[in-house]
Amino acid sequence: MERTFIAIKPDGVQRGLISEILSRFERKGFKLVAIKIVVPSKDFAGKHYHDLKERPFFSGLCDFLSSGPVVAMVWEGEGVIRYGRKLIGATDPQKSVPGTIRGDLAVLVGRNIIHGSDGPETAKDEIKLWFKQEELY
Ligand code: ATP
Ligand code: MG
Repeated sequence: MERTFIAIKPDGVQRGLISEILSRFERKGFKLVAIKIVVPSKDFAGKHYHDLKERPFFSGLCDFLSSGPVVAMVWEGEGVIRYGRKLIGATDPQKSVPGTIRGDLAVLVGRNIIHGSDGPETAKDEIKLWFKQEELY
């Protein structure tokens, strides 16, 4: 069955949005197969966002992801990669429509509270980067 990597970023955790975000994925009908709290190092954050390393905001983005606890998760279900991105909304919360997580709960692109894998290859790579096989239900 299809799986995706979802992370609640430090701003989402700090703002107390964990249960709100979990419930949106649960109510849709997706299945939680792994969850843990991690404070990633800056180096680890760089691995997670390696495809953005040429972007001007890369260093700030890695500083931010490593600034506090992150809720790392794996969700499973038919179409969960694409639909998970739909639940999350557009990268820039100013452009995310109401009803999406970023549309309802965030304002700034650099503080957009949640990450979701953008395709089957990245989902596979990100699950492998964040979780050991025995941590997956
Ligand atoms: P994520 O990978 O976190 O789920 P995304 O796939 O919607 O987000 P990406 O293009 O992968 O968007 O960018 C990764 C993250 O980098 C974004 O979530 C955002 O926090 C940050 N980011 C993207 N564009 C900008 C920008 N122009 N300025 C500042 N930060 C940005
Ligand atoms: Mg992305």
